[in-house]
Amino acid sequence: MAFVLRAVFAASVAARALASCAYGTHLFPRAEEGAVEINTFGYAGTVGPLNWASLDGGEANVLCATGTRQSPIDMVDGSFQMVPASDLRLEIADMPEGTEFENLGTTVEVVGRGGSLEVAGKTYEFQQFHFHLPSEHLDNGTSVALEMHMVWESPEKDVAVIGVFVDLDAGQAPPPAKRSVVPHGRPGHSLRRGLRRRQEASGEAAAVEEGFGGVQGFLTMPIVRPAATPSSLLETVFSQVEEIATPGSSVKTAPLVMSELVNTLLQGSFQSYSGSLTTPPCSEGVLWLIPTQKLQIRTATFEKVRSVIGFNARYPQNTPGEPNLLDIAATRAARR
Ligand SMILES: [Zn+2]
Repeated sequence: MAFVLRAVFAASVAARALASCAYGTHLFPRAEEGAVEINTFGYAGTVGPLNWASLDGGEANVLCATGTRQSPIDMVDGSFQMVPASDLRLEIADMPEGTEFENLGTTVEVVGRGGSLEVAGKTYEFQQFHFHLPSEHLDNGTSVALEMHMVWESPEKDVAVIGVFVDLDAGQAPPPAKRSVVPHGRPGHSLRRGLRRRQEASGEAAAVEEGFGGVQGFLTMPIVRPAATPSSLLETVFSQVEEIATPGSSVKTAPLVMSELVNTLLQGSFQSYSGSLTTPPCSEGVLWLIPTQKLQIRTATFEKVRSVIGFNARYPQNTPGEPNLLDIAATRAARR
């Protein structure tokens, strides 16, 4: 197996960088049975997102630095259209025999076994789902623990991605230490000042002063999280994530009940916009659907996933239709 992996890796380095977001579509057909190709781009240093356009000879990934409808983005009002669940059809076959769960080097990915999405007059076929850590899209300004990308392709080669926010469960982790986290000094004071400014702005200053016993009070204030649905599907998949800790490795999953996921997503709506792949070659014309329904996994599960993925989120891009942030930065740097 090790020899096969090395051979595949060498071949993929000689070719172009592979795109995990589009793996299994016409852009990047899946490797032959039993082989897992490893991506050559990365998330830090010279192979990271700021330099993706320079990889692969400079032309293949040019949209990463020049495209004006790039993903991910901050999902704030005005950047998307809301699509009610009644305006689309979503079906994914259960996988009673399980399926492949692979480490592509830049993400971990589950291979699809059939499913269809009908939206805006087009029909797409389900290809795979994979994960980004932390989330790539921001949920109205906020990063979420994970984002699941469910990738679809139409017969006309159009790509659609359903990007599901995956948050941590509440209450499983031990309570925070009361005095040891930020016990003294300026960081705690600046936290207090920041909090007080926000609460003064919302007219709550008096109530806060009364119950505010210092940093201890701040740390024990409850964190309000949007509702999320615990996902036994993700718990099942991730129960084997440590078995594919090595890039290029793969394992067969237990039976996967995809209908659980579909039913959850269809209970909400979908925030839609036209964007791009979030990995090289950053191709545009990708239909994004970000469900208002979020999933939830156990904190211990998240820690296992983090130990394997590490970090694989592209930074938030400019508002769709506005210049690419790298174009803006290059123009300003040239003026100096
Ligand atoms: Zn992705």
